[in-house]
Amino acid sequence: MMAFTHAAAGATAALLVAQYMNAGTIQSLLILSGGVIGSYMPDIDHPKSAFGSRVLPLSLPISAIFWHRGITHSLIAVVGVSWLTWWVLNQADWDRGIAIPMVIGFAAGYLSHLLGDWLTNSGVPLLWPSKRRFVSPLKLCTGDSREYILGVLMYGWVAMTTMKMFVK
Ligand SMILES: [Zn+2]
Repeated sequence: MMAFTHAAAGATAALLVAQYMNAGTIQSLLILSGGVIGSYMPDIDHPKSAFGSRVLPLSLPISAIFWHRGITHSLIAVVGVSWLTWWVLNQADWDRGIAIPMVIGFAAGYLSHLLGDWLTNSGVPLLWPSKRRFVSPLKLCTGDSREYILGVLMYGWVAMTTMKMFVK
């Protein structure tokens, strides 16, 4: 799945969570930004990805140790990295009113990335260290037209939902 679609899915997942939580406008925007950041994170194991190429000092060693779509594409990583983000924000003394929605969005965005890759041919090792890869029965090829359509639909929904928060 492309970074474009991952970001769209991260934003969609985050806003769905914000709606479910009945979050206010500011909170929703924090959850949304956490979601977009979280949606990029798993590909830190991929030095050629949009995100990985910007953080080579991190992505190169991680990809050498775990390969692409290894531990970073597992449920352990969702929990571990979300907890780590929470810990870092706490250490940095961020206001909880900001840190909590950010981390919630981050976890939602991260999960949405796994869901997105689950839809593609190579699947994801959700239960890493087990090598089993989970693949959706309904497969999508990375970069095919259906992926673009899905991405555009999600961006449309995100834009509409965000706008509605301001006219309320
Ligand atoms: Zn990925």
